[in-house]
Amino acid sequence: MKKILVTGGAGFIGSHLCIRLLADGHQVTCLDNYFSGRKENILHLLENKNFRIIEHDITSPCCLNQQIDEIYNLACPASPVFYQYDPIKTVKTSVMGAINVLELANKIGAKVLQASTSEVYGDPVIHPQKEDYWGNVNPIGIRSCYDEGKRCAETLFMDYHRERKTRIKIVRIFNTYGPHMLLDDGRVVSNFIVQALQGKNITIYGDGSQTRSFQYIDDLIEGMIRMMETNDDFIGPVNLGNPSEFTIKELAERVLLKINTTSEIVYKPLPMDDPKQRKPDISLAQQYLDWKPKVELDEGVVRVIDYFKEQLYLFA
Ligand code: NAD
Ligand code: UDP
Repeated sequence: MKKILVTGGAGFIGSHLCIRLLADGHQVTCLDNYFSGRKENILHLLENKNFRIIEHDITSPCCLNQQIDEIYNLACPASPVFYQYDPIKTVKTSVMGAINVLELANKIGAKVLQASTSEVYGDPVIHPQKEDYWGNVNPIGIRSCYDEGKRCAETLFMDYHRERKTRIKIVRIFNTYGPHMLLDDGRVVSNFIVQALQGKNITIYGDGSQTRSFQYIDDLIEGMIRMMETNDDFIGPVNLGNPSEFTIKELAERVLLKINTTSEIVYKPLPMDDPKQRKPDISLAQQYLDWKPKVELDEGVVRVIDYFKEQLYLFA
């Protein structure tokens, strides 16, 4: 049994990670400030004596006086709507959060995994994206608080590793979706499904020709755990994503095929710096983690539709 800290554990990905780690028999501490996560995602886990919750903001040092073997650092809003709400805070969460988590890991000798992102590649000019691509990021745009914050966090992880021998892992997560996303999360999969279930118009930003590669949550969790279990000399960064690429228009059409609705597609302005295409090259993850995604979009979307139907019924 390992003692594991999950920062951002009440969020979409973090709550699934806590559930899986508990099911694997570990002792799990969830740290969160509930900015973009919610207690309902994790409260039921308190029935398990191996689970505890700490309400804390990662921009302040973490004074944990318990033994911790592994830390997953997920604390950071990930939806553009949430990370652009208070951009200065977003940068602080990524940068000061990384420092605080790395200091803690150093002090207690824990291994620490950073949840980085495909956004470090910005609006990529290389396709698909491999880990050795340095990216194409606007440092002064409205997405920069997230992209540059995450890039700086990677820098900090590498520097703590080189300078202080901190045991680190970095995964770069591509667009992930699944249950536990908020109804008003703002990201495209949840938006389209919730809009269609409510009979509202499906909002495509731009002409819908931009692409994303959508990964189902269970595949990501498996990849993150496999990464944490690799030898100390393998630190990444490693892409974790589903290489099946779709235009946003195709996504809207697939959602509409699965939900009996009066919703129609409407077109809204494309936000500044919205990446035109994104698709992971996952050969590194296949080689080092023996991992590849199993859940394809049509199957994953049905699971999320069922989840949001239930949520809309509960909150009606
Ligand atoms: P999320 O917003 O659902 O979860 C983030 C969690 O972090 C929330 O519970 C939030 O309350 C918490 N948090 C935010 N700021 C905090 C702070 N200052 N102190 C403590 N807790 C704080 O997002 P998610 O989709 O679950 O993403 C989790 C992590 O994975 C993030 O670091 C994100 O950048 C990364 N990621 C996610 C995706 C994706 O597609 N979901 C893609 C790339 C990277
Ligand atoms: N998008 C859209 N309609 C929405 C929400 C998002 O067309 O209601 C588009 C958005 O402009 C982007 C893509 O879908 O091109 C993915 O957006 P999301 O916010 O999910 O993730 P990210 O842009 O961070 O990859």
